[in-house]
Amino acid sequence: MNGRDFYEVLGIGKGASEDDIRKVYRKLAMDWHPDRNNTPEAEQRFKEINEAYQTLSDPQKRQMYDRYGRVAVSDAGRRGFEGFDPGGGLGDIFEAFFSGFGVREERGPRRGGDLHYAITISFQEAAFGLGREIDAARTELCTRCKGNRAEPGTSLTQCNTCRGNGQVRRTQSNLFGQFMQVVPCPTCKGEGRIVQMPCAQCKGAGREQRTRKLQVAIPAGIEDGTQVRLSGEGDAGWNSGPPGHFYLSVTVKAHPFFKREGNHLIYEMPITFPQAALGDMVDVPLLGGAIDQLKIPSGTQPGTVLRIKGKGVTDVNSRQRGDLLVVVQVTTPKKLDARTKKLLEELHKLLEPEHPKQSVE
Ligand SMILES: [Zn+2]
Ligand SMILES: [Zn+2]
Repeated sequence: MNGRDFYEVLGIGKGASEDDIRKVYRKLAMDWHPDRNNTPEAEQRFKEINEAYQTLSDPQKRQMYDRYGRVAVSDAGRRGFEGFDPGGGLGDIFEAFFSGFGVREERGPRRGGDLHYAITISFQEAAFGLGREIDAARTELCTRCKGNRAEPGTSLTQCNTCRGNGQVRRTQSNLFGQFMQVVPCPTCKGEGRIVQMPCAQCKGAGREQRTRKLQVAIPAGIEDGTQVRLSGEGDAGWNSGPPGHFYLSVTVKAHPFFKREGNHLIYEMPITFPQAALGDMVDVPLLGGAIDQLKIPSGTQPGTVLRIKGKGVTDVNSRQRGDLLVVVQVTTPKKLDARTKKLLEELHKLLEPEHPKQSVE
């Protein structure tokens, strides 16, 4: 060590913030890493830079250094440095440092992320099915570089840090000893290759955010809470991995008077007492607006279920239609005019409620 001032080594002022120190270090380490820099003094400079960084990036060590100068802290600084990697070369401290900066922990082809959207449709749309166009914001491969990150016509070169295999070994020491870890290469982020000239369109990301119109066919008979999957319509994959999926959660609004039970529709139909007693032909609304005629037999009791076959909801899988189940509700008039009242009073004299008979044994 030539004993240069740490601030001078990093080329920063005494008041530099931790953030500034980190940025400067990052750049210098890149410039002087012996794998990247072939000049004879690179190794020495790199050591110096690391030593300076070890001290100045640690607030306590930095304070000591500011107060007492190099002598007081150089040992601590060097110990810190050497403690990282006894004999493993300079690569490891470099990696140990950079691996803290959001390096992706996986390598190789990976499926892209899934997208989740939600829509709300009407009861009728759910019963009959519909097509919907959805604006889906998703990540796609850059159209200019086709995802390879380099400007078309330029090439990618093998990463020197990892020699192109995308992984590096890292030695970590703690109280219990030293551990060897294989981690994604921090220089190339596990890609094994370095982009020389980044693609002008995606700035070297290889990916772009784009909004696509997706045609979604929602099948007839879909139920509330169903998830429709569009395979491969999610975010683009990584390293030639397949794209993710697009999931659409469908919420179905309630209908003003139809309810659904599986593929059957339930309709609670109000009728009068005379209709129930005498029987009648009544109009029944069907889902979608049509009307059907239904015969109410004489003597129909409240709660009786009358069935109109095939007027329910189409089954999503079998395509068979359920039934419309008409539940008879006998209503009691609330307002009575004089004539109705008189007729009911007469009726009242004629009718006796039928109590269930108790058997006496
Ligand atoms: Zn591009
Ligand atoms: Zn690499």
